[in-house]
Amino acid sequence: MFSHWDTPKTAGQISALAVFNWGVYMRLEDPISTVKGIGAEREKRFKKLGIETAEDLLNYYPRDYEDRTKAVLISELKEDENSVILAASKETAKTAYVRGMAITQVRVYDASGSITVVWYNQPYAKNIIKPDIMYAIIGKLTVKNGRKQIISPDVEKIPDDEEWKGSIEPIYPLSAGLSQKVFRKTIKTVLDETEAYIKDYLPMDIRKKYKLAGRQFSIKNIHEPESMENYAIARKRLVFEEFFMLQMMLLRMKSVSDGKITGAKMKKVDMKPFFGQLTFSFTDVQNKVFNEIRKDMSSGKVMNRLVQGDVGSGKTAVAMAAAYTAVKNGFQVVMMAPTEVLAAQHLESFKAVFEPLGINTVLLTGGQKAKEKREVLEKIKNGEADIVIGTHALIQDSVEYKKIGLVITDEQHRFGVRQRQILSDKGDNPHILVMTATPIPRTLALILYGDLDISIIDSLPPGRKEISTYAVNTSYRTRIYNFINKEIEKGRQAYIICPMVEENEKIEAESVMEYTDKLYDTVLADRRIKYVHGKMKSVEKDEILKSFSEGSIDILVSTTVIEVGINVPNATVMLVENAERFGLAQLHQLRGRVGRGSESSYCILVTDGKSEVTKERMKVMKSTTDGFKISETDLKLRGPGEFFGVRQHGLPSLKIANMYTDLSILRYAQDAAVELIKNDRLLEKEENIDLGRELDRYVTISNIGI
Ligand code: ADP
Ligand code: MG
Repeated sequence: MFSHWDTPKTAGQISALAVFNWGVYMRLEDPISTVKGIGAEREKRFKKLGIETAEDLLNYYPRDYEDRTKAVLISELKEDENSVILAASKETAKTAYVRGMAITQVRVYDASGSITVVWYNQPYAKNIIKPDIMYAIIGKLTVKNGRKQIISPDVEKIPDDEEWKGSIEPIYPLSAGLSQKVFRKTIKTVLDETEAYIKDYLPMDIRKKYKLAGRQFSIKNIHEPESMENYAIARKRLVFEEFFMLQMMLLRMKSVSDGKITGAKMKKVDMKPFFGQLTFSFTDVQNKVFNEIRKDMSSGKVMNRLVQGDVGSGKTAVAMAAAYTAVKNGFQVVMMAPTEVLAAQHLESFKAVFEPLGINTVLLTGGQKAKEKREVLEKIKNGEADIVIGTHALIQDSVEYKKIGLVITDEQHRFGVRQRQILSDKGDNPHILVMTATPIPRTLALILYGDLDISIIDSLPPGRKEISTYAVNTSYRTRIYNFINKEIEKGRQAYIICPMVEENEKIEAESVMEYTDKLYDTVLADRRIKYVHGKMKSVEKDEILKSFSEGSIDILVSTTVIEVGINVPNATVMLVENAERFGLAQLHQLRGRVGRGSESSYCILVTDGKSEVTKERMKVMKSTTDGFKISETDLKLRGPGEFFGVRQHGLPSLKIANMYTDLSILRYAQDAAVELIKNDRLLEKEENIDLGRELDRYVTISNIGI
């Protein structure tokens, strides 16, 4: 054993107390309503936080702590800072009534001076501080009309002859109706009763190697740290565990496909005919990435590769080269896009390149007519179709493929890991190529795509026009509308993005529908305006996006539904309302919708936001178009948890780990996971069985990969 924090207490040691108190054991899976003091109403409030069982409660970590272990002198108190003083009063508190309000006051003293403690409308407050007894008084110094006070502090009596030890109090992220006090008390009860059942599923040799505390110790000390040192030890273990579980899950998925060495071993083919069809040559980066792909496809192992690159960086062109290779090796290629519009766009560009080469590309989408669909399905089945482009329809049961060798998913972040798996199961372990235009910082990519190898396209093809970006406040609106009007006169089109669908009293954000209405009172009244938003039926939405891309709509008012890959080269203005409500990465994505043609393009960010973060974001947007730079900054500015919809990626959000500041622990966790998978891929060894079981449970709970 390597330390005291390694050894769990036994059930006997701990539960004696619990049994004595309540007469029954509580188990980790018991609902928290079995805790004394938790009635139906409180139960509901806990449920709102996602807490239903004792275990859920223990896994709900504090967001912060209040260190009450160090007392200060009254003379050292600082305004608005939570502090502890050790003081006594000389007389009983007095209550006065002012306009119906009971104000109770008492003066307390220590060696450095004195201060008044005040309670409002608390009739029993009189007896909280009694004369000539030492108390620890925990609260904030408030200065009101020049008078120093502490209002409604926590007060603890210090027993005679004892030193003040204090405690470190957890502060939980709570919602309305639950107080810290109730929450802490519930935690305490549940911890006392269930601590002994907390099992450690991290294998011992990993814990030894990375010096990780036991789970029991860690859970206890994350909630009720005895010291800040213990807290740090506990936190390290839990951060490691969180990263480790995530990595294990991703690596296990990867290893399942890695392990199968399949028939999809492809030869490198002569690319001249393909390149002959392009109107440009590949950039160095494109060549490099294509070579990485080719190497994977010919390795005999299944490729799982993510190609990351800004909008317009030439990912699709690279994917085409990969598709050509697969087709020439006698395989079918499937390409899945997030929307019908995008699928149709891909079809067009693929046909332009592949038709002259005698390669047959077909489209399969949910919106197709039955007859058309039947024909396409037949072609897919008999192998007449070499390349199949489509939407989710591609992964339905009714679709039978002749011989899939390569699966390309565009804009992966709109698909769950699960769909990717289904599609891949339809073939004989085809190679998988995922493309994303979301520039993900390396840090985050490790977490999100631990199951994929990563290629990065970090420079744009030559000859791109810069997009001019402006950040203005709402007083510029008329001018902006005039500008848009002029662009439309020139034959161009514009996007206007609003964050909300319907007017919401609470959030004063422009809503798509209301906004569109208002446009009719402006200089743009005679323009062809349509709106789309995520709550629309997708058929309807696709119809509108289609007419916009055909040029029969001038202005598209939209929520961020158009964020993903719509390609309308004729659109030259991107106006974003309430820009402060979007993350940088999202603004960058939106901006990428313009500047796709030969005309100069403009991105106008409208915000009245005055916060430092908003100012910083606007500054970044104006100063760079480098997606990676932007997303790094976003991660810094926004902090963990919020980073452009980690949830969107189908992965659980992090509860305790901070992917920015805990990067080194992430690396260790990843090393540990890689090593473990290498040694015991299926987690069958005795010492890893608990972990395997927990991992299965983890996957179920977080709803990934099943
Ligand atoms: P992405 O899929 O990354 O958004 P695409 O592959 O669709 O990018 O490329 C965007 C545009 O740039 C397309 O019109 C494509 O034909 C063009 N393009 C791609 N690669 C090059 C290149 N090396 N040189 C010039 N234009 C290119
Ligand atoms: Mg694209």
